[in-house]
Amino acid sequence: MNRDVSKAGIATQAVWAGEEGSLLQHATQVPIVQSVSFSYDDLDDWQAVALGQKPGHIYSRNTNPTVAALEEKVRVLEGAEAATSMASGMAAISNTILSLVRPGDRIVSVKDSYGGTNQLFREFLAQINVASCLCDTTDFAAIEAEIAKGCKLLYLETPTNPTLKVIDIERLAHKARQVGATVVTDNTFATPINQHPLQLGSDLVIHSATKYLGGHADALGGIVCGRKDLVHAIFHYREITGAALDPFAAYLLLRGLKTLALRIERQNASALEIAQFLEGHAAVAHVFYPGLASHPQHEIARKQMPGGFGGMLSFVLHGGYDQVKRFLPKLKYAHRAANLGAVETIVGPPATTSHVEVSAAHRAAMGIPEALVRYSAGIEDVGDLLADLAQALGSA
Ligand SMILES: *Cc1c(COP(=O)(O)O)cnc(C)c1O
Repeated sequence: MNRDVSKAGIATQAVWAGEEGSLLQHATQVPIVQSVSFSYDDLDDWQAVALGQKPGHIYSRNTNPTVAALEEKVRVLEGAEAATSMASGMAAISNTILSLVRPGDRIVSVKDSYGGTNQLFREFLAQINVASCLCDTTDFAAIEAEIAKGCKLLYLETPTNPTLKVIDIERLAHKARQVGATVVTDNTFATPINQHPLQLGSDLVIHSATKYLGGHADALGGIVCGRKDLVHAIFHYREITGAALDPFAAYLLLRGLKTLALRIERQNASALEIAQFLEGHAAVAHVFYPGLASHPQHEIARKQMPGGFGGMLSFVLHGGYDQVKRFLPKLKYAHRAANLGAVETIVGPPATTSHVEVSAAHRAAMGIPEALVRYSAGIEDVGDLLADLAQALGSA
């Protein structure tokens, strides 16, 4: 059947896209093709596939049918020309950046990028003489001024981790275009349900599929989608660095993706309700959530996140880190863990989660309070989550 899902709704795409070519013997589910290599009786055929002149697979470090189905599904969800996957989100980020820059190049980015990304900029890119200019995340005029000086890449992430700052992708991508820079956006927190960076002018969009795309905290993965020429260059680099996604992980991510729209709809609604509840609670000093009218970039978020404001929020407790240590163990319906975007609610302080790689002094310089709690709303009944927070805050 020719099932063209390009015009279908995003929930339909999440269920159907990418699967058709991989179904075997009338199966309704994509198989896990747990095979390293693929065999050819005809040497001319083998060579044509190896040279990319014929569709097919040769060796699973390069391509694999289960992995290809996942790539196609996410490509459709992001409305991209092409997609390639990686063993983790950080593999996607590092392979993307390293394949696109050369010694002497300059990257413009923001201070609030994911901890591992920040470390890549400051440690490993510096080692190969790639300069990273990390600007104040929401000072868009200053970021524009740095872009105007010339850069190879503009690297964005929005909303940011863990203080949920929102970056105006369209405005900065427009500026980047004027200097010929490639724009890369980490869309992990927003997901393709809430935000489409490619439509806002980004050339590439990256996900840690480990988080919302998979949604069940049982598989690592990363994916990069966007312009065909760029994705091809990244794929070529990844073939050699070897950061390939495992077929079993690809299967788990495909399975999780089918419920993406349902999960995100629930998590958007719950996070908003929880943020509003916490904003009115006496034990809470501040709440960071782009859906709150009090959020400094709320208007930008409304414009660029038409699907919703996401399932992530964070808040500062009165009483410092000691209070966080008393509060977190009291939550019944939350894993205290270094992850986010799963069906279960997950909580943690940045010191042990997103920013464990950076020093306390550096966290302070980044404006990340030690009494901050990062909260990834799960798909539980929101009434249970609210009651749980109320009891834990009340007795903390
Ligand atoms: C988790 C995360 C990453 C890294 O992903 P891994 O799959 O853990 O390597 C990158 N960016 C953001 C925003 C993340 O939350």
